[in-house]
Amino acid sequence: MKHNFGAGPCILPQEVFEEAARAVVNFNDTGLSILEISHRSKEFEAVMAETERLVRELLAVPHGHSILFLQGGASTQFAMVPMNLLPPGGKAAYLDTGTWASKAIKEAKKIGDVSVVASSSDANYTYIPKGYEVPGDAAYFHYTSNNTIFGTEVFETPQSPVPVVSDMSSDILSRRINVADFGLIYAGAQKNMGPAGVTLVIVKDELLGKTGRTLPAIFDYQPHIAAGSMYNTPPVFSIYVSMLNLRWLKAKGGVDVIEQENIIKARTLYDEIDRNPLFRGTAAPEDRSRMNVTFVTENKEHEAPFLELAKERGLVGLKGHRSVGGFRASIYNALSITGVNALVDAMQEFEEQNK
Ligand code: PMP
Repeated sequence: MKHNFGAGPCILPQEVFEEAARAVVNFNDTGLSILEISHRSKEFEAVMAETERLVRELLAVPHGHSILFLQGGASTQFAMVPMNLLPPGGKAAYLDTGTWASKAIKEAKKIGDVSVVASSSDANYTYIPKGYEVPGDAAYFHYTSNNTIFGTEVFETPQSPVPVVSDMSSDILSRRINVADFGLIYAGAQKNMGPAGVTLVIVKDELLGKTGRTLPAIFDYQPHIAAGSMYNTPPVFSIYVSMLNLRWLKAKGGVDVIEQENIIKARTLYDEIDRNPLFRGTAAPEDRSRMNVTFVTENKEHEAPFLELAKERGLVGLKGHRSVGGFRASIYNALSITGVNALVDAMQEFEEQNK
């Protein structure tokens, strides 16, 4: 048995893989593969409608916020957000908390003026800056809710006098959020929502169409909203698998239930990192992510042998990102407490071996 701690694309529930595999051969007893049916067929329209309904229900998305399933990954949203929300001559405020936040800033600068309200680049992004102020004349304020690479997370929605935009790629659906607090939320699906290839966007309708910019339709949220995410051919299979995964989450009891599990999983792993003298966490304790747990060995020479032991125990995807080093255990929704316990056991076994 393998436990997959990969950062994304990542683990999804086994039953989701199995049902998706069946649908590739014969979708809903149609005698056709999910891969060959028209996106305009009534069968796929039902999939799209249910996926949207599940997102609306699981995240309690209020009336007045549209839900979109787009292509191009979260990286396309780095550009689409300023294209749609930043008027010519205006400025946007950004919080710089890591690689993805910096990329979002870089792209926004190509569209207009950007004010970086705070950055933790001075400490290799090991913490979330606090006590900054968002300028009242910004068009919006953007932050990354979970920093997949550096293992930090923002649990409280920042105070902002202007609409808040959040990249929630790596913690969407892992904990309760109040969608009404946000002007726009986006997330590449490939962590907690589904496979790679679809990007979720939740946007407050009243913010759109206000910049005076003429955009290519494909980069304009409004045509996508008007067409129910079918302005062009949507990523049919990624949406279908997301639907299966959202059904799984709903059957489990939804976001509140998974949040409690995620709290226990993260606590179990951080407790071992703090207790075990061979390991050290890299993120500031108050900002530790519940999704991506970053840690190193105190002795650099222990790194390779620990990875080897982990591999022998079926623990895969633990190698840290090159900008942090060490290890990163991504413990997304589908990674069970059994997987976390297996990692903790391996850490304790390694401690025994190195006494
Ligand atoms: N934002 C965050 C927080 C991410 O973790 C990632 C990818 N891991 C991205 C953006 C980029 O997403 P994509 O590859 O879907 O463009």
